[in-house]
Amino acid sequence: MNTFNIQNLLRENIKTLKPYSSARDEYKASGSEMVFLDANENPYENGVNRYPDPKQKDVKVALAKVKNCNPENIVLGNGSDEILDLIFRAFCEPKEDNIIILPPTYGMYKVLAEINDINIKEVVLSKTFQPKADEILNTANKNSKILFLCSPNNPTGNSFDIATVEKLLKEFNGIIVIDEAYIDFSGQESWLNRLEEFPNLIIIQTLSKAYGMAGIRLGICYASFTIVEILNRIKPPYNVNLLTQSYALKRIEDQESVNIEIAEIQKNKEQLAEALKEVGFVSEIYPSDANFILVKVDDANLRYNQLIKKGIVIRNRTTQALCENCLRFTVGTNVENQRLLKALNEIES
Ligand SMILES: *Cc1c(COP(=O)(O)O)cnc(C)c1O
Repeated sequence: MNTFNIQNLLRENIKTLKPYSSARDEYKASGSEMVFLDANENPYENGVNRYPDPKQKDVKVALAKVKNCNPENIVLGNGSDEILDLIFRAFCEPKEDNIIILPPTYGMYKVLAEINDINIKEVVLSKTFQPKADEILNTANKNSKILFLCSPNNPTGNSFDIATVEKLLKEFNGIIVIDEAYIDFSGQESWLNRLEEFPNLIIIQTLSKAYGMAGIRLGICYASFTIVEILNRIKPPYNVNLLTQSYALKRIEDQESVNIEIAEIQKNKEQLAEALKEVGFVSEIYPSDANFILVKVDDANLRYNQLIKKGIVIRNRTTQALCENCLRFTVGTNVENQRLLKALNEIES
């Protein structure tokens, strides 16, 4: 049974940490007639001469409205990568603690663990790319602080079975990070709707994929008030810059445009998957809840290099567990997908 207690998971230095505080935090709300001589900024207005809102209130309020949650359950970061790094630094003691990842999965969990000198335990997914709950729970020990579930999973594209995730949320005695970078392409509901049920749950989303804003770097974390308070304590005060906040706000408030593009990408994905069936050296097309398709081919290295020569860059996943001879195609525009298919057909002959 889960005996989850957040204070027991926290690193000692974080328990007592006092965050950097800026005067602006306290007074910004009281109005624009105030004179700000606290932060050594250049006083001449040019749109970016002031420090950005460290709590990113406007973005959070807009996001909470779209996602139907409380703004106080949100932490924003300079990409999901920063959020993931904050989680490591809050909970994992270097050299002592470990995280559990489920290959084949997103590469950053491992990289960030290595940067932070955290041990890594791997439990490979099942043949159908699902988490093996019992094996994960048996692998966990008292130093297992975080379990990463990427659903829809990168690079396989499938969503994880709900009952399996639920079992892990109930029985794993650490933080569970569900990385929902591709949730907006998925038919499965976000775990955000069940945040209140699980005090050990952290959900990660991003503006980099469905929202079409990889260039501005905005990662989103949803968690309990307790976890949000901890992450706010350790994040750099001005981690999301002013330009990012203003671009993000506009895009989040224009949900209709986002939805039109998502629908277009879905349609293109189905057409691409259909056309890939006709390519002789493709032996398997895995179902995808994301904006990419994983396929098995006869010789991934050969096909990858042939595509590069034709000016098309895809992702070769052949060295990943369960992904021998697999290539990952991001769904592009119709024109781009046609170019991919033309190249694949030329290679074949
Ligand atoms: C692309 C991706 C992200 C996004 O990372 P950002 O730093 O927000 O751009 C996160 N998780 C997974 C699994 C991804 O594939």
